[in-house]
Amino acid sequence: MPYVNTLDLVTAARGQGYAVPAINIVDPLTIKAVVEAADSIGSPVILQTSVKTVKSAGAGVLHFAAKDAAESASVGVSLHLDHCPDREMISHAIKSGWTSVLFDASDRDFEQARKETAEVVNEAHDAGVSVESEIENIIGVEDGVGSDTARHSYSVDQLIEVALFTGTDLMAPQLGTAHGMYTAQPVLLPERVREIVSKCDLAVVLHGGTGLSNAEFDEFIDAGVTKINISTALKRAYMKTALEYLKECEASNKWEPVKLFDPMIAASKDLFTTFAGTFHSAGQDGAGKGGAK
Ligand SMILES: [Zn+2]
Repeated sequence: MPYVNTLDLVTAARGQGYAVPAINIVDPLTIKAVVEAADSIGSPVILQTSVKTVKSAGAGVLHFAAKDAAESASVGVSLHLDHCPDREMISHAIKSGWTSVLFDASDRDFEQARKETAEVVNEAHDAGVSVESEIENIIGVEDGVGSDTARHSYSVDQLIEVALFTGTDLMAPQLGTAHGMYTAQPVLLPERVREIVSKCDLAVVLHGGTGLSNAEFDEFIDAGVTKINISTALKRAYMKTALEYLKECEASNKWEPVKLFDPMIAASKDLFTTFAGTFHSAGQDGAGKGGAK
C-alpha cells in the first residue's frame, strides 16, 4: 500500500496495548530490511531519518526507497524526520514527501519554542504532514543533535498548553530516558505519560528506547506511549554485522559487496522483529487511513 501518515499509525495504537516501532534507518538497505520484516510479521512501522541521514543519502533517494518498500508491503509504513531544529530542513522534508517531522525546539526558550512550533505545524498541516513537537530536551546527543544536560524542563500543564496552542500531533516529553547507550540506571517517568494522556488526546512518544528492559517498555506502553524510537540498537547491529563479515573477507581475501549486504539486512530484520515483539505491534493492522504522497 502507499505509505501512510504517522499520526494515523499512532492513533490506531491508542488504547490497544501496543506501540508503533519507530526505527532510525540509515540508507535504502535498512529501509528495505525494516519494511520487509514489518510486513512479514504484520506490524506497522515508522521509518525515521536523522537530519544527518537525509544529508548523507539525499531526500529523494530515501523518499523513493521508503515509498517503493511501502508499496510492496501490506502494513502501514510512514516516513518521519527525527530531531530537527533546522527550519529549512523541516521545509525540505515536508516538500520531499515525509509524512511527519519532529520539530526539535528544545534549544529555544519557552516563548520562542511555542511561536516557532506553531509556525511549523501550520506549514506541515498545509501539506498533510503531521508534527511531533519537543520543547524539553531529551538528554543525550543523537547524530549531532541534542545536549547531555537538561536545558529546558516544564510542567505537564505547560507542555499541554503549548501543544494545544500550536496544534501539534505528537509530543516528545522528558520521560527519564536518554539517547545513546545508558551508562547509569535511568529514573523513568511513566507516570508523566499517564498524566499527559489523561489530560489530552496527544500521542506521546518515547525516545531513547535502546537499553530499556521489556518490563520497562511494558510500563510505558501501559501508561499510554504509542510510538517508541529505536536508533542506537540498529546502528550497532548494522555496523557490528558488517565488521564481522569484513573480517572474514580480509581472512579469505575475497571482496564481494553484495554478499556484505546480506548479513547487514538480516541483522536489521532481526532487530525489527525483536522490537515489534517487545512493543506488541506484531500482528496489528496498522494500516491507518488514507495515503500520503
Ligand atoms: Zn530522540
